[in-house]
Amino acid sequence: MRFTHDTEPALVAVTALVNSGRTDTDTLATTDGLGDFLDTHGYTGRHDGDVTELQAVRALRDRLARFWDLDRDAAAEEVNRILRESGARPFVTRHDTADWHIHVTDSGDPLADRIGAETAMAFVDLIRADEFDRLRTCVADDCDCVLIDMSRNRSRRFCAERNCGNRASVAAYRARRSQIPHS
Ligand SMILES: [Zn+2]
Ligand SMILES: [Zn+2]
Repeated sequence: MRFTHDTEPALVAVTALVNSGRTDTDTLATTDGLGDFLDTHGYTGRHDGDVTELQAVRALRDRLARFWDLDRDAAAEEVNRILRESGARPFVTRHDTADWHIHVTDSGDPLADRIGAETAMAFVDLIRADEFDRLRTCVADDCDCVLIDMSRNRSRRFCAERNCGNRASVAAYRARRSQIPHS
C-alpha cells in the first residue's frame, strides 16, 4: 500500500482513539488522559485542556468507531459529512522538516475538528484505493478492539492494544500441550 506519509500515522491514531474506550479502563476518561493521547500520537496545535474539549473528543471517538460498521459507500458519505462539519479547507504547507504536504484544518481550530478532519482524510485514502476493508475488529473472543490491517498480505487478525495475538498463541500452545498423552 502506498499512502501519503500523513495517512498511516492518522490510521494508527484513530485505531488507538477508538480502542481507548474498549480496553479494561477508559484511557480517555480525563483531560490528562487526552493529553497523553495527544503526546503519544504527536498532535500539536491548539489544546485547551478543558472538559469541553475532552467531551468533544469523546463524542468524536464514538462517531469514528462507527466507521468499523460501515461499508465503503456509507463510509464515503460519512467522510464527507465530517469534512463539512469540521470546516476542512485543504491547503499545502511546508514546515519544520516536512516538505510540501496537505493540511486540512488550521492549528488553531478545535482539537476534535482537527482530529476528525485528519482521520477523514486518511479514510479518503483507503476508500479511493478500495482498501476500506482493511478496517477490522479483533478476532479474539473476549475482545472488541479494532484494528486497521496495514500488512502487505492482509494477515492481521488481532488488535495491538490488548496483545490478543500473543494471548491466542499462548492458549493454542497450551491446548496442544494438553493433548500430548501423559506417560
Ligand atoms: Zn504538517
Ligand atoms: Zn484484541
